[in-house]
Amino acid sequence: MDETPFDDDDELHEECGVFGIFKRTDAAAVVTLGLHALQHRGQEAAGIVSYDGSQFHVERHAGLIGDTFTKQAVLERLPGTSAIGHTRYATTGGGGLRNVQPFFAELSAGGFAVAHNGNITNALTIQRELQRRGSIFSSTSDTETILHLVATSAARHFVEKLIDALSRLEGAFSLVGLSSKKMVGVRDPLGIRPLVLGDLEGSPILASETCALDIIGADFVRDIEPGELVVISEDGIESIFPFQARRPRFCIFEYVYFARPDSTVEGRNVYEIRKKIGGELARESHVEADIVVPVPDSGVPAAIGYAQEAGLPFELGIIRNHYVGRTFIQPTDSIRHMGVKLKHNANRRMIEGKRVILVDDSIVRGTTSQKIVQMVREAGATEVHMRIASPPTRASCFYGVDTPEKAKLLASRMTIEEMADFIKVDSLSFLSIDGLYRATDEPSRNKLTPQFCDACFTGDYPTSLTDQDGTENVRPLSLLGGAG
Ligand code: AMP
Repeated sequence: MDETPFDDDDELHEECGVFGIFKRTDAAAVVTLGLHALQHRGQEAAGIVSYDGSQFHVERHAGLIGDTFTKQAVLERLPGTSAIGHTRYATTGGGGLRNVQPFFAELSAGGFAVAHNGNITNALTIQRELQRRGSIFSSTSDTETILHLVATSAARHFVEKLIDALSRLEGAFSLVGLSSKKMVGVRDPLGIRPLVLGDLEGSPILASETCALDIIGADFVRDIEPGELVVISEDGIESIFPFQARRPRFCIFEYVYFARPDSTVEGRNVYEIRKKIGGELARESHVEADIVVPVPDSGVPAAIGYAQEAGLPFELGIIRNHYVGRTFIQPTDSIRHMGVKLKHNANRRMIEGKRVILVDDSIVRGTTSQKIVQMVREAGATEVHMRIASPPTRASCFYGVDTPEKAKLLASRMTIEEMADFIKVDSLSFLSIDGLYRATDEPSRNKLTPQFCDACFTGDYPTSLTDQDGTENVRPLSLLGGAG
């Protein structure tokens, strides 16, 4: 499969994972394993760039890592001891693989490849400016902008050029880059997306999440700090803080849904936080019921926490077929409806005659919940109470999580009562924003300087959104595709 069958426009859906290793035999094979562990961050396409001491090699394919990069012939085309890779949500329709990362270019300073997780909110403005000055773009991705900024920087040395380029960016960027002599990792000053430093028997690794270290038995060294640039070379690891320091605003949705539960992000184990979220939810929205049932898989840890706190049995009342991608993966509404049926089935024996508390992580369009609730009712539940392990998703993400435009978010156009009617539940409750913060061990949300980016729940965007038109109905990636 060279192109995704559902794409009908040039809009990108982002959600990405990055991984890189420096100075290690079979670097591309190690990156393949790392990307496989990051597959949940993007399932549509992936790429790897390796450097063999004299040349760079680039492979980019649509599909799952396990279906493409595990082929011997592909790995043989990626020789070398340093490599970086990227897994992304979607390729674009018209351009096929042209937006798949890493991006690579031969610059005056030498070859440079870059893989990006996040979204640059002023990329279109920069792109237009560069185009006026003669730059030619081969993709619609915001990440290519970074290569052009590095290429056109007047600074002398590679790292200075990179800093120069990055200083122009607004938005979220966790980047891994590779030159002939260096591997670099950087997080935007707010640290919106994760990035960790690992070590495999002396070979430094950069990865989106710690689960990508575990798969190869690498050690976790530390998180890359918000605003930090690490330069990895034969001389060791240099740490630079080139940006003006800001109070970090890590994405709280990584804890709710996006990161893998076995990852430790910013010092917090994701699974533990999800369980605590479930506990908070049970305290905030008690209801008489017989069993707690998660919407698998994303609702499972919160449902365990809920059941423990409520003292109710936790039951797998819905079984998931794992051979279908996430419901979100099919980007047309009609297919998304089918996706739920393909993916979930009610476990009638557990549900029949019971008052069921259904726990899911979030409601976005409401399509999943509507179908699941209908299925649980058809399986004989006497009452269905939906409990959502996050506040209502009211605003689009512009920082690298795929969310539909605001108008399609159920919570942006309905009250909670209307949503309960729409998904046909006996009761519906969401976790409060302070409850969510408490689950991360913060006493509450600091209104003046919030501890996280929670824009999807509050509409409080921590950076300027230069490329958006400023109205409430802006599309997450209105004009220029994001990187993921
Ligand atoms: P829906 O309300 O039908 O749009 O789907 C909501 C479900 O999709 C949630 O329960 C999550 O499990 C999942 N979900 C939430 N946000 C995302 C996202 N950005 N990408 C993929 N899946 C998501």
